[in-house]
Amino acid sequence: MQLFWHRDDLRRTDNVGLTAAAAEGEVVQPLCVSDAVRDGERGRRASAMHHRGVAALVASYRDDDVGVICATGDPAEVIGATIDAHGVSAVHCNRVDTPVGRRRTAAVVTACAARGVECVVHVDHVLVDPATLAPRYPSYSAFRRDWQTETPADPKPAPPPERLGEIDEGAAPAAPPVAVELPSAGEGPAREQLEAFITAALAAYADRRDDLAGAVTAEVGPVSELSPYIARGMLGPRTVYAAAGPPEDSGARKFRDELCWREFYQHLLFHNPQLASVDYRTDQAPIDWREDPAAVAAWTAGMTGYPLVDAGMRQLTARGYIHNRPRQVAASFLCKHLLIDWRVGAAHFADLLIDHDLASNAGNWQWIGSTGTDTVRCRIFDPVAQARKYDPTAAFIRRWVPELRSVSADAIIAWPTLDAGDRAAAAPAYADPIVDRDAAYDRAQQVITAAVDSTTGA
Ligand SMILES: Cc1cc2nc3c(=O)[nH]c(=O)nc-3n(C[C@H](O)[C@H](O)[C@H](O)COP(=O)(O)OP(=O)(O)OC[C@H]3O[C@@H](n4cnc5c(N)ncnc54)[C@H](O)[C@@H]3O)c2cc1C
Repeated sequence: MQLFWHRDDLRRTDNVGLTAAAAEGEVVQPLCVSDAVRDGERGRRASAMHHRGVAALVASYRDDDVGVICATGDPAEVIGATIDAHGVSAVHCNRVDTPVGRRRTAAVVTACAARGVECVVHVDHVLVDPATLAPRYPSYSAFRRDWQTETPADPKPAPPPERLGEIDEGAAPAAPPVAVELPSAGEGPAREQLEAFITAALAAYADRRDDLAGAVTAEVGPVSELSPYIARGMLGPRTVYAAAGPPEDSGARKFRDELCWREFYQHLLFHNPQLASVDYRTDQAPIDWREDPAAVAAWTAGMTGYPLVDAGMRQLTARGYIHNRPRQVAASFLCKHLLIDWRVGAAHFADLLIDHDLASNAGNWQWIGSTGTDTVRCRIFDPVAQARKYDPTAAFIRRWVPELRSVSADAIIAWPTLDAGDRAAAAPAYADPIVDRDAAYDRAQQVITAAVDSTTGA
């Protein structure tokens, strides 16, 4: 018997390691290990979504009379004990490139080797293995040029049930309680969401993805909201890429571009294991971040007095998801207008996002914080101009900031620049801006460019 250890790949279809194991001689025994240390790295809500996904996977195996082993603890100990108890011939798993994921892989490989059993580690979570590309690119577009020359593999078929699962023991532990409604977990709901998006919204994706009013009213779209399924491995990247169809269509082309951003950050993490804790750019001086607990508290509470920032932060608290546009604006506001270290924001997002993915979160935060891969010297999103451009009717802001529901769209958008008296008359329960828009912009320009323009010689 061979063992297949499910990690961040909670699916039977388009699972590189599972399909490869089943193609070898012996029957493949699926194994799920509940690992508190990996849960800590995933974040609270992402962990809850992960555990729901494990439960859905286990149920799908058992529905097909396939046995699955569920255990709790250190994976190396669990897998070592399983080999000792059942005489396993080989162990297969898919690679996880996070710091804890790497440590877990190394320990499992060692535990297998100590027993004379081969551990085969497959690459499943990306379309193009980062190890096959250059280790460092000066920009996203340079990465994309190389990445596009590779032809992604087709989605892998699910192994037939008769090739799987001799032993059935243990139960998937209940998901930890979280104060947010989780999307339905598992391969089935993930595929339904993918199909609904492709049918209803992909064609308009290139033109509509930043339409925040559409994000409030449309039942499906303008964006896919597939990120929790992709991040938790309930959908394989090859499946999502193939479903988008040929790139002649502008919606498909743009959607595949977004998947390429994801690959870019996975590539960064593979080559920079400390991406979530250490500045990526070592050639510039560290930014002189401020300490300001009151400002951070206002930001997390969605009470900065900048309506689009607050709408995004409240969407995060309420749903564990933020549309990409307010995600960028809220993150930029923290790093630039408030001059708070990107690590503070990344940790808060990691705690609350259902779609938390260490590579995408850290990579995007570093890009926003001017310590990562953005080629612009000091990019600052103006939260007022962004609201005017992407939420001109203030539909998204009103959805998430009820104090502003009876205020005109023009006043909502201009809120941080209104007279204090006008604000008090229009919506007394809503916040005044916690920083002056122009002064905060100038301070960010000065401090960030001082760091970016200095060289460390590294
Ligand atoms: C500060 C910050 C933190 C972020 N943290 C995460 C995170 O923890 N997990 C995460 O999945 N995404 C993260 N993103 C990227 C992006 O915001 C989300 O992937 C996207 O909003 C998810 O919504 P969607 O599935 O509807 O995206 P769609 O627009 O439908 O895009 C399809 C898929 O492409 C990928 N994608 C799209 N944009 C990006 C991007 N900029 N970077 C990486 N992948 C992308 C995602 O897998 C997404 O599901 C972050 C962005 C910012 C600015």
